[in-house]
Amino acid sequence: MSKLCNNDPAIILKRLLDMGEDEIILRLGEGELENEIIDEPVEQIPMQNEADRIQKNTSDSKPNTNDSVLLHIPSTIEELEEEILADGGCRKCALSEGRDKIVIGVGDPKARIVFIGEGPGAEEDKTGIPFVGRAGQLLDKIFEAMGLSREKGIYICNIVKCRPPGNRDPLPEESSACMPYLLNQLEIIKPAVICCLGRVAAQNLLNTDATLGNMRGKTHYFQGIPVIVTYHPAYLLRNAAGKKPTWEDMKTLLGIAGLPVPKP
Ligand code: URA
Ligand code: SF4
Repeated sequence: MSKLCNNDPAIILKRLLDMGEDEIILRLGEGELENEIIDEPVEQIPMQNEADRIQKNTSDSKPNTNDSVLLHIPSTIEELEEEILADGGCRKCALSEGRDKIVIGVGDPKARIVFIGEGPGAEEDKTGIPFVGRAGQLLDKIFEAMGLSREKGIYICNIVKCRPPGNRDPLPEESSACMPYLLNQLEIIKPAVICCLGRVAAQNLLNTDATLGNMRGKTHYFQGIPVIVTYHPAYLLRNAAGKKPTWEDMKTLLGIAGLPVPKP
């Protein structure tokens, strides 16, 4: 069971703080969140004052909308896509300047496994779909060998949703600006396991400077979800020797997800 929960005040607060907000009004759709906040005060969260402030704000019948935001946390992938694409698309970091399309993610919203790459390349920027170039075609073959596909069991996305110029690594401020979207994707999908494709994805997700060699072959955790780190498929195109260990990693992923390992 993932520890992420859409209605978890800690997640909501973290996302707001990530977005730099300091004044918060929650729109309480189905009443669940209201009950959760009011009935179950969060005692172990250092942001208790913020939670108290939310309670106060939610009981105000007339919020001052001039210096506050109405928050609606998307609870479906479609809603999240709408939010990111609204008003000409997200401009929370400088990567918005050079992009063509925002590449949010594709796949099964009920995926057991979420694959995370670093950021869109040229083909992805043109099409708006992650991993459509040569590396993506190799990835699709790997999914097939796993008995899965973008339609069934798998969701693919990236650390940053807009292409870094010249395919450079995303800067720390770019990946942190984009992280709330990835958090929201994971909250919605609630995968059994995450697979980081390559060093850059793993370093950004796990907030570490460790090398790929160091991170491979171990189970890491992100927000309580197991994380496996493997080679980026672009690396496999140049280094066929990486394919065998990659298949070992895929078997580990399937095992954690409780899915059968197909016979080669
Ligand atoms: N490489 C990535 O990391 N992500 C993509 O979407 C495409 C290539
Ligand atoms: Fe927004 Fe992410 Fe694109 Fe930056 S990379 S502009 S945060 S969608």
